[in-house]
Amino acid sequence: MAVPLLDLKRQYLPIKERLDAAVLKVFDHGRFILGPEVSELEAKVSALSGSRYAVGVASGTDALLLSLRAAGVGEGDEVIVPDYSFFASAGVISRLHATPIFVDIEEDTYNIDPSKIAAAITPKTRAIMPVHLFGQAADMDLITEIAGKHNLVVVEDAAQAIGAAYKGRKAGSMGDFGCFSFFPSKNLGCAGDGGMVVVNSEEYNERLRMLRVHGWKKKYYPEIVGYNSRLATVQAAVLNVKIDYLHDWTEGRRANAARYDEAFTGTEIKTPVVKDYVYHIYNQYTIAVRNRDELLTALKEKEIGHDVYYPIPFHLLPCYDDSGYAKGDFPVSEKAAASVVSIPIFPELTRQEQDEVIEVVKSVSG
Ligand SMILES: *Cc1c(COP(=O)(O)O)cnc(C)c1O
Repeated sequence: MAVPLLDLKRQYLPIKERLDAAVLKVFDHGRFILGPEVSELEAKVSALSGSRYAVGVASGTDALLLSLRAAGVGEGDEVIVPDYSFFASAGVISRLHATPIFVDIEEDTYNIDPSKIAAAITPKTRAIMPVHLFGQAADMDLITEIAGKHNLVVVEDAAQAIGAAYKGRKAGSMGDFGCFSFFPSKNLGCAGDGGMVVVNSEEYNERLRMLRVHGWKKKYYPEIVGYNSRLATVQAAVLNVKIDYLHDWTEGRRANAARYDEAFTGTEIKTPVVKDYVYHIYNQYTIAVRNRDELLTALKEKEIGHDVYYPIPFHLLPCYDDSGYAKGDFPVSEKAAASVVSIPIFPELTRQEQDEVIEVVKSVSG
């Protein structure tokens, strides 16, 4: 039986009527740029994430980029980022002509290792960007403590973590900026690209709103050089419907995760390690195995959806060839890149499908 990694059609069909109507309504009123649906969604996401303000932008990548810009990060600055994440986390730093400073990850959670951050701080460090990888929050108490001591801005990459929590606080609300992505494969995805930044500071809120429209408050009078980075009204309309189901979908993912956890207990398969003070939302269910090549071959052959998030740590990416890092610099990240694979976890996955995944994974790597 073929099993997809994700099947958005199964998500769409039960809510088709509401979704179609919401999209058509936008065509009807015609306010395609920053229409009423955008502010409606901003209110919902600020409530959901426990932050005062939310600003819709064109993508999760732009959410990070505009946050760094709003914080004043630029040429000559250094930003600390885990060595292991989706490329955008590092790429946005480089795009601002700042330097990403990579830090190794924790072996259990794959999140940035707070005990290694202090050694990476220099007089040029301006910000820390923790990533809540796979839907589990990084250790924010330790990170914000270090940031406070060194006067650093904290930009949370919560692209995989909308609705996740840490010690009762919501992902995105603990740093100065919280960045979400609505890329279709994320827990809350739209019908194209979309993103949002949440902040508590009124000043940051205002600057983000300027940055997404060319840097102006008054049309055609830019005060700073900004971007064209708005969340499309149509996308906001889609998200306003889908956000009502997010909690149930997340609970579906968590139930699937619990089934996998149980099925892989007592095997050599390393299941996600979840800290007891987090609420994990499982944007991915990522296992680590000793024989990954063999497992990838079997999954491919049996048509079981899977992906490797991520095959190359930042310090070994071709685009960072000239940055002076070498193989061996971040052993935990390198080990993760060589041993992980993510398997289907989407809420609509059936029991039979999940049993099939379990059987193949156990037979090869158990
Ligand atoms: C998806 C993702 C992004 C980028 O989001 P886009 O909406 O695709 O631009 C950034 N960081 C992480 C960790 C992500 O998973």
